[in-house]
Amino acid sequence: MLDKQAGGERANYSLEDMDRNSVVHPLTSIADLRTADAKIMQSAAGMTLTDSKGLQMLDCSGGMWCVNIGYGRTEIAEAAREAIEKLNYWHLFGGASNEATIRLSDRILGLFHDHANAPQMARVFYGTSGSDGNDTNYKLVRYYATLRGKPDKKKIISRRGGYHGLTVAAATLTGIESYHKAWNLPLTDVVHTECPHYYRFARPGESEADFCDRLIGELEDIIAREGADTIGAFIAEPIMGTGGVLVPPAGYFERVQAILDAHDILLIVDEVITGFGRTGHWFGTGLFHLKPDLVTLAKGITSAYFPMSASVISGRVWQVLEETSPQVGPFMHGFTYSGHPVGAAVAMANLDIMEREGLVANAQAAGSHLIAGLRKRLANHPFVGEVRGHGLMIGVELTADRATRRPFPPASGVHRLVVARAQQMGLMVRASPFIEVVAFSPPLCISMAQCDLAIERFGATMDAMIGELAGHANAA
Ligand code: PLP
Repeated sequence: MLDKQAGGERANYSLEDMDRNSVVHPLTSIADLRTADAKIMQSAAGMTLTDSKGLQMLDCSGGMWCVNIGYGRTEIAEAAREAIEKLNYWHLFGGASNEATIRLSDRILGLFHDHANAPQMARVFYGTSGSDGNDTNYKLVRYYATLRGKPDKKKIISRRGGYHGLTVAAATLTGIESYHKAWNLPLTDVVHTECPHYYRFARPGESEADFCDRLIGELEDIIAREGADTIGAFIAEPIMGTGGVLVPPAGYFERVQAILDAHDILLIVDEVITGFGRTGHWFGTGLFHLKPDLVTLAKGITSAYFPMSASVISGRVWQVLEETSPQVGPFMHGFTYSGHPVGAAVAMANLDIMEREGLVANAQAAGSHLIAGLRKRLANHPFVGEVRGHGLMIGVELTADRATRRPFPPASGVHRLVVARAQQMGLMVRASPFIEVVAFSPPLCISMAQCDLAIERFGATMDAMIGELAGHANAA
């Protein structure tokens, strides 16, 4: 219990009450938190979280798809301490720089060149969150269009179910309605197209190839309707994360890329989740043979030990910025914390661990083990429709009826109920805000034994919930 100075009187005041009376929580019902307590996380080490009530959970969420190297690494603390002692802050404005940021930029470009078959990536700009990274890329599309004398070529096509963050521009790019409702969003200059998730959005009898044809047809229709000279870019997560680990149909990206090339439209690849090994590849760009002009990075860049994002810019975009610079004047964009020397040192130490421990390869091996184990364990569960993913980015989609793939009524929030029960059983997983999917994105250092434990706990959770899920299914 803590003391609160209230109107001159000191009252006993729990941490939960203090939270209720002082903290604004993202994506949380304000009404519910008036009576419920916040879940206060106390500590974490390796793969294990401990909350303030002493409950221990195996973290198969990676925080929010971000703690790629696991919790409590003293090597990172040491790197941060050294960086703070050496140069705790300097900026990049007016041509200033710092060694850690220079080395990190060179290393990121090297990873794209050597491990993602993307030799075109040429420069790195830094921010502090995935949202601001996408804001930067949204602005760069407009800047590039204006500088090359095509100022109208600035609209961005995004997909329904896509998540790109919650600043004004990023929320506009996000294709999930609940993030727009009552916020007077989306703004203009973004057009949303169909979600490429076959299991849920295919029409009855439609094959995956037909579904893909329909998606491509809709993209072509949008470009024809809006006019290619008004479309600056197409933005995509290689695998949609928040939307529910949505893997596009075979051949989708190749066909999208061909359309973009034909109409001189940039590709923004949002690798905020997929970057830095999550899919068992260094980047989703390499996994799907994408040819990005702009890439958004965050999360795994520092494994969330420091808030950092990056926009990686291709040579074709950079060339226009460079050539027009004498006429245009300085690049009038940047943040106080762009290229923070402590963040860059943390990112370097994080990448050292990723490389030394072979965490990208482990994501592939452990991911295959986890997905196979979940599929086997849940094969006969009446309310599990599909288990899918790549590497350690895995989604379990719930359905009210396996034969017809009928969804649960959205208001029942069954996947949230599953997640809450899993936590009680010692497993941290996350629910999608878009469709009824439970997502697994553990730290990439998860062992095979920990994968087995996750499968056991999730299987037991799902078994324990059959009756409750049946009730919601029958109400549909
Ligand atoms: N882009 C993607 C693909 C994301 O998953 C997220 C966050 O989950 C963001 C952007 C936004 O990142 P942030 O929450 O750091 O602003």
